[in-house]
Amino acid sequence: MRLLKKELYKVKVVEIFRSVEGEGKWVGLPVVFVRLEGCNLRCSWCDTAYSYDGKSYRELSVDEVLEEVSNFNVRRVCITGGEPFFSKNLHILVERLVEDGYTVFIQTNGTLWNDNFSSLNWGKIYIICSPKPPFYFVHKNLIPYIRELKFVVDENLDLSHIFKDDYRDILKTDVVILQPESNRKEMVQKALGLQDKLLRFGVESRIIPQCHKLMNLP
Ligand code: SF4
Repeated sequence: MRLLKKELYKVKVVEIFRSVEGEGKWVGLPVVFVRLEGCNLRCSWCDTAYSYDGKSYRELSVDEVLEEVSNFNVRRVCITGGEPFFSKNLHILVERLVEDGYTVFIQTNGTLWNDNFSSLNWGKIYIICSPKPPFYFVHKNLIPYIRELKFVVDENLDLSHIFKDDYRDILKTDVVILQPESNRKEMVQKALGLQDKLLRFGVESRIIPQCHKLMNLP
């Protein structure tokens, strides 16, 4: 099989835009978002259903994505979705961005994996994993690479979904994020309760709302 040059591989892109990171540990920093098409899940509170409606995307070469990203003069790129790992050429896009000097965040639901990621240079790649109800399943190959574990605090979430043996190493760090669903007051209260319970096990967590929504940013 003849391989394409890396820059000619294509990805389905819903939108590319500059904003500030609105969720998690990197909140407030300027970021270029690349939203890829497709998702394997259908969460009830999903606010980006247009990313998997099958009609809201452009098919761009990796080179074309790089060109659009470079227009924003920001050296930080967040690949989001939908579910980024749903794109079979994700590793090629990530590799090119890293080669061009970008720091790359990937926001994933954690359920999928791409074996080509094992050989990437992970120094500038940050996996931000947000396990989703009802199963909160995270692919075992992804777990060692997770740099931030983010839980949407909704009616389903309980301590057993967070305090798992699989996450033992991640829980030792301070990158467990509790994000109250839709910034609802009762979910803020629930997050405070979960934070206390985690503390009893020596686990620090951060309660951070979706700040971009509070500021009416995309
Ligand atoms: S995983 Fe994310 S993009 Fe997919 S349905 Fe759930 S919230 Fe929406």
